[in-house]
Amino acid sequence: MRKWEENVKKVVPYTPGEQPQKKGIIKLNTNECPYPPSPLVEKKIKEMAYEDLRLYPEFPEKTQLAAELAAYHQVSEEEIFIGVGSDDVLSMAFLTFFQAGKPILFPDITYSFYDVWADVYGIPFQTKALAEDFTINPEDYLADNGGVIFPNPNAPTGTLLCLEDVEKIVAANQDVVVIVDEAYIDFGGISALPLLKKYENLLVVRTFSKSRAMAGARIGYAVGSAKLISYLNNVKYSVNSYTMNRPSLELGVEAVKDDAYFKEICGRIIATRTRTEERLKSLGFTFPKSYGNFIFAAHREVKAGYIFEKLKEYDIYVRHWEKERISNYLRITIGTDEEMDALFRALREIIK
Ligand code: PMP
Repeated sequence: MRKWEENVKKVVPYTPGEQPQKKGIIKLNTNECPYPPSPLVEKKIKEMAYEDLRLYPEFPEKTQLAAELAAYHQVSEEEIFIGVGSDDVLSMAFLTFFQAGKPILFPDITYSFYDVWADVYGIPFQTKALAEDFTINPEDYLADNGGVIFPNPNAPTGTLLCLEDVEKIVAANQDVVVIVDEAYIDFGGISALPLLKKYENLLVVRTFSKSRAMAGARIGYAVGSAKLISYLNNVKYSVNSYTMNRPSLELGVEAVKDDAYFKEICGRIIATRTRTEERLKSLGFTFPKSYGNFIFAAHREVKAGYIFEKLKEYDIYVRHWEKERISNYLRITIGTDEEMDALFRALREIIK
C-alpha cells in the first residue's frame, strides 16, 4: 500500500441490482414499477421550461412538493423532509440521529444499505436475527440501543410487522430515534404514520421509486416531528444544499396529485402478486407472504443460484444474494402480467 493510501477511508460499498443496457430484458431485479409514471407527470415534462435549469432549485422543504406531501399526509410542511431518493433521506438520517455511540439495531436480513451507512459514518450496529419464518420479533428491539431502523414491509423478505408491534418498538425506545423505512408500504401494508401524533422520536421514510413509478427521478421523503425534521435539515444543509434537482421537484408534485392513478397501479401490482404466488406455489416454490412489490422465493429442489443464472439466458433478471440464510432465495419483482408469463415459461423449462 502506498503511503497516501494509509490515510484513505476504506469502505465496502452497497451493491445495487444490475441495470443491463441490453434491449428487451425483463427486469425483475430492482423492484422498479413496471408501469409508467402518472400521465400528469408526462404532461408536465412536456411543458417544463428548459431555461429554468439556469437557476438553482429552491430548498426542498420550501417547495410545492413539500406542500403537496404535507397535505397528502395531513401534516405540516415542517414535518416533511425531501431527499434524492429515500437512500439520501436514510443516509442523512443515519448521520443525524444515530450518534449515541451505542449500537443501533436492525434485522440480520434487511436492506443491505444499512450496514454500509453504519460503516461509512462509524456508527456501531448490532443485527437481530429474523425468526425462522423471516418475521421480525419486536422483543429483540426492546434492549438498550443507540437507535432502531427496519423496513416495513421488510426487504428482501416482504414480511410485514403489524402496527401494534411497530408501536411496541417505538414506545420502548423513546430515548432514541426509531426509523421505519416504508419503501414498500403502498402494496398492502399498514403505515406507522398515525403513530407520529404520539411519538416525537419516530421517522417514517417513503419513496417515489416503487409505488409512484419514478425511480429515475430520485425522490424520497421523511415524515416526522418538526423537531426531528429541523435537525435533519441542519445536517443536510451542512453537507450539500442543492441535491434535489428542479425537474424532479416539479414532477413529484404531479405524481402526488394523481392519487387515482397511484391507487390503480398499486392495485394492479397487488393483483399480479396474488397470481404470481399461486403460480410459484404450483411450481414448487415456498415464500413468506409478501406485502411488497416482490416475492422472496426458494424452490424445494432446484438451487436459487442455478435458477438465477439460467433466467439470465432467457434475458430475465431477478435478484440473488450469496449470503448466509438467504442464498437459496430469489427476490422476484412483480412485473406486468405479460412479464410474469414470460418468467413462468422460463421457470417451467428450467425446473423440469
Ligand atoms: N429502502 C428499501 C428497503 C429499499 O429496498 C430501497 C430500494 N433499493 C430503498 C430504501 C431506496 O430506494 P430509493 O433510494 O430509490 O428511494
